[in-house]
Amino acid sequence: MRSGWFSMELKSRDIYEILSDLAKRRGLFWPSYEIYGGVAGLYDFGPVGVLIKRNIIEEWLYWLVYSTGLVVEIETPIITPRIVLKASGHEDHFTDPITECTKCGRVFRADHVVEEQTGITVEGYSMSDIWKVMIENNVRCPECGGQLTKPQPALLLFKTEIGPYKGAPGYIRPEAAQGMFVSFKNVFTVVRNKLPLGIAQVGKVGRNEISPRQSLIRLREFTIMEFEFFFDPEKSYEEVMKYMDEELEEEELFVLTADEKSRGIDRASRYRTLELIEEKIVKNPWMALWMAKGNRFLREIGIPGDKIRFEEKLPWERAHYSEQTFDQQVYTRKFGWIEVAGYSYRTTYDLDRHIEFSRSDLSVFKRYKKPVEKLVRRAIPNPIKIRELAKDKMGKIMENISSMDQEALYQELMSKGYIEIDGVKLGREAFIIKEEKVKIHGEKFVPHVVEPSFGLERIFYALLEHALSLEKDRIVLKINPRIAPYQVAVFPLVAGSKPEHRKIVDIARSLYRALLKARIRAFYDEEGSIGRRYARADEIGIPFALTVDYQTLEDETITIRYRDTREQIRISIHEAYDKLLELLNYKGKFKLNFDKYP
Ligand code: AMP
Repeated sequence: MRSGWFSMELKSRDIYEILSDLAKRRGLFWPSYEIYGGVAGLYDFGPVGVLIKRNIIEEWLYWLVYSTGLVVEIETPIITPRIVLKASGHEDHFTDPITECTKCGRVFRADHVVEEQTGITVEGYSMSDIWKVMIENNVRCPECGGQLTKPQPALLLFKTEIGPYKGAPGYIRPEAAQGMFVSFKNVFTVVRNKLPLGIAQVGKVGRNEISPRQSLIRLREFTIMEFEFFFDPEKSYEEVMKYMDEELEEEELFVLTADEKSRGIDRASRYRTLELIEEKIVKNPWMALWMAKGNRFLREIGIPGDKIRFEEKLPWERAHYSEQTFDQQVYTRKFGWIEVAGYSYRTTYDLDRHIEFSRSDLSVFKRYKKPVEKLVRRAIPNPIKIRELAKDKMGKIMENISSMDQEALYQELMSKGYIEIDGVKLGREAFIIKEEKVKIHGEKFVPHVVEPSFGLERIFYALLEHALSLEKDRIVLKINPRIAPYQVAVFPLVAGSKPEHRKIVDIARSLYRALLKARIRAFYDEEGSIGRRYARADEIGIPFALTVDYQTLEDETITIRYRDTREQIRISIHEAYDKLLELLNYKGKFKLNFDKYP
């Protein structure tokens, strides 16, 4: 009776409601500071949510960071001095357009209100252009229908002070990237001056979003997983090919290009990684390599390939630092396509800006394969002649000449016949002109950068939505065992006070402790009927359950049950650990097929 009612109720509710309810009930996530009324855009992660998040990070590190040997991880502060975000351009550009209702005083993100009411995308438009669209379409306050004001930019950085008294101005970082740019030279030295080099970081960032909404999709504090990939653009093709194995070459990606978008096409086409490079859809081959790896990562953690696409941003939709950007999107039933990652070709923008603002040399030296010979022409001052001409100004003039660029000095002498310093004309006779061939071993250059940047909470949400399955009267989270909060549940069939029940409980507990010791994330539960315990484990996606029962007392066997099929078989308790390892490493669909594991 109850189960029938429950199943009807499950079907009639929307996926988002079911997920939000599950999230709170089972400890995945819930709004922060709830007892004080909550704060929009801030969420807590519970005991189960934290484990799933950590597993996603591990998978990201495996697929993106540690799969090539080219990327290293660092950790830099969240608190950022103002100068860093001034140099990066965030202080001037990291804004969203806001509009205020003249009647109720509520503030909204202008581009969102326009899109909701007219279907027109105005992302990246100027304030006056958004205003034009608002007037032409009579866009009104979504809450009270009142008149809205002309949009104006609002800075999304969280301000803070570094130091308690008359502290220096600072911000909470809105991306982890700047920590990597600023530390580039240190890391470059640590890896013994090798390019290409990726510097990765996983950490919290803060963005003072105007209207945070849609649960985990638009947060004010979230976790970014990103890396800055530094390379020599002249060598990128040959270097990318070294890391392009067969699997990666053949990886299929759905891509919607900016050109197609501007021609009104809104369906992504299928490309292989190599095609993206050869057809010059990406402006640099490294973009294609990391996009392919990002595609693989999402597929591996459980998002179907046809629910992932890359959308190239139009020039006015791109961030200020980007030469080309692809958003990686995942289709969700609740929110449609959502951006879970961005791939930007940041070129030399950030390093150039930090060179300019910090006056540090962030360029690198590129050694030529063979030294090249160059004719160098120099005008070397002749002190005797200069003393004659400069007299008591001699010291000052010599100092001035030594700070001049040799080639420029030579050119000026040759074109004008003299140079003038402090009112003293020095002709060619004041210099010894020398031409010499020198061997040049290399040159300095500023590396280019491609950045893949992933939002952990959005991936977490998309993954849960795709994993959520409604089976008759129950919720089963069919999550990849590598991502599951626990790898295995251990249950005693019964947990009463009879002596044999005590024995069953003792065996189950010691099996549980042994698994924990062996670094298996195990979960133990002895409360309620075994059916309920299986159901509780299914709800949080525990893929396998080991159950100790009466037969265990006779022949030392236990059952192992697979979440997705509810299939159960008996195995010896002594092989439980090995069997579990085999099952956890099983690639593909996790079909429980014991013939495969003799
Ligand atoms: P961006 O630097 O804006 O490209 O952001 C990188 C990634 O962070 C995006 O692809 C999203 O997955 C995620 N992200 C951006 N803004 C938010 C937000 N307000 N809340 C949650 N995730 C976000």
